[in-house]
Amino acid sequence: MSINIKQSVRCPKCSEMSDVTVWSSVTAADSPDLKADILGGRLNMFRCPSCDTTALMPQPMLYTDDEKRLMISFMPTNDPVEKQQLYEKIVSSSRESGELNSLEGYNLRFVNGYNELLEKLLIFDNGYNDKAIEVIKLMILSQDVDKSDQRDCRFGKSDDGNIEFMIHDFIENMVYSSYVPVETYDTVYRSLIESGMKPYSFDWEIVDGAYATRLLNGFNNNF
Ligand SMILES: [Zn+2]
Repeated sequence: MSINIKQSVRCPKCSEMSDVTVWSSVTAADSPDLKADILGGRLNMFRCPSCDTTALMPQPMLYTDDEKRLMISFMPTNDPVEKQQLYEKIVSSSRESGELNSLEGYNLRFVNGYNELLEKLLIFDNGYNDKAIEVIKLMILSQDVDKSDQRDCRFGKSDDGNIEFMIHDFIENMVYSSYVPVETYDTVYRSLIESGMKPYSFDWEIVDGAYATRLLNGFNNNF
């Protein structure tokens, strides 16, 4: 069930007060409009009616897609220490409540940035597994090792037998596209499954570049 809360917010720029509807829970099946809002970058975004300033509300949000067996816990923060604390909290509260038993076969993801949330939705909507996608993103970034620290790679879209990735270079201030054939994805996915990766979660997981690095190290150690 999708759940919202109404909040009165003071604009950080012009101090005008306005009411904002923030969503703490969004379920894909009964709220296609809210899902479209997430993909359009509008969900839980504050927009000041008098000066047009926009800002993401610091509201945790749980996204559930039962058809795709996907749950994403979105807890906005840029602080790595807070991120770790929030992650440990969700893991322990899920264990205590016993809810993990009812989520067998689900992919449970923990994300902290809006772009990550959006990217996860796109990846699963296109029928891909984000663990294999993260490995491919590492492979793309490693093609230009000298610049991998100044670049961010994101899933873009999938069509004509290719997956498009967007590479943002913060120093050059440029965005590049990189195309990977779906067959490459299939090969990577199959290799990961054969090396023991599970296509679903046993617990909440942070699936990012660091996760993919650990996955690859484990994978290489097997050979
Ligand atoms: Zn304002």
